[in-house]
Amino acid sequence: MSFSKLGLSAPLLKNIEAQKYEQPYAIQQQAIPAILQGKDVLGIAQTGSGKTASFALPILEKLQRTEIAGNRFVKTLVLVPTRELAMQVNEVFRTFSAGLSRRVKTVAVYGGVSINPQMMQLHGTDVLVATPGRLLDLVRLKAVHLAQVELLVLDEADKMLNLGFKDEMDEIFGLLPAKRQNILFSATLGEGVQNINDTMLHNPLTIKI
Ligand code: AMP
Repeated sequence: MSFSKLGLSAPLLKNIEAQKYEQPYAIQQQAIPAILQGKDVLGIAQTGSGKTASFALPILEKLQRTEIAGNRFVKTLVLVPTRELAMQVNEVFRTFSAGLSRRVKTVAVYGGVSINPQMMQLHGTDVLVATPGRLLDLVRLKAVHLAQVELLVLDEADKMLNLGFKDEMDEIFGLLPAKRQNILFSATLGEGVQNINDTMLHNPLTIKI
């Protein structure tokens, strides 16, 4: 199996090669074509499985086919439990964004640092990587609007629930349009994650690594 069989275009394949990824990991082989097709995905996978590239690559591929936003309506939202993961995911998106057929802007926002510099960066964001509390702060300040989100990724959903973000997550879900693609990643499939799967995902492809 090679990355070139998964439906990714030449600039992305070049960036993958530059990262010295020789073959797609199992989760990437399954998730990339499904996400490109617009399907919902439930991935039960640990850190180290290659889960980040399994959603970042097809998201970047899809974004290349869409118009630049140029406003505060984010189309792709990636919710993560911690600042560290927000920075890591942001870095993966940026690494694979080099030289694409259109500029893709990824921004990470998280708590524990001042909000103003984050607010000022948000205009024209394609992919917003966010921790739940800080995202809601920015929504309340009207620095970002969620009414046009087309694709939602929940990364490490079990950890987000364990850290006590359930209420914030529910509030965020309530701000999203009903019609959207959902990608749910979790290391474990406990009751809380199962519940999100049952209420939010439509006929998902389930991948267990
Ligand atoms: P993740 O599970 O997303 O945190 O990724 C774990 C590590 O695997 C990261 O350092 C990635 O750069 C690396 N990685 C992801 N996919 C591949 C691949 N197909 N080949 C080699 N390394 C990879």
